[in-house]
Amino acid sequence: MKGKRKKIVPGILLVYDRENKDRGEKMDCREAQRLVMPYIQDDLTPEELEGFLEHVESCPDCREELEIYFTVALGLRQLDEGSGSYNIKGELEAALEESRRQVRFRRMVKVSCYAVNTLAGLGLLTTFLLQLRIWIIP
Ligand SMILES: [Zn+2]
Repeated sequence: MKGKRKKIVPGILLVYDRENKDRGEKMDCREAQRLVMPYIQDDLTPEELEGFLEHVESCPDCREELEIYFTVALGLRQLDEGSGSYNIKGELEAALEESRRQVRFRRMVKVSCYAVNTLAGLGLLTTFLLQLRIWIIP
């Protein structure tokens, strides 16, 4: 009996989790921290990127986690390149700003597509109404 319950509950939670994600609701810390490395490697889908940015901007814990990983990744890269930057916070800010720009751009494209679709729909409707008027009015 107990064993059965244990199996069912995670299943429900998983579905609930997925539904939340589909509705574009806020990402939790576990999910955000899972995405820290992929973020640094520039390996997030646009949806993940948007949720991730939103989360680290409002969650100091995950922001700190990101800073730590970012610092390490940047340090390693600079060792490779033999160059050194002492402004890691500035570098992270710049990277986040770039990501925000990506998200904003994508949102704009989405809205434009929607607007174009709506306009196309209105155009079609107008054409139809005009045609109707020609048919109806002698
Ligand atoms: Zn968090």
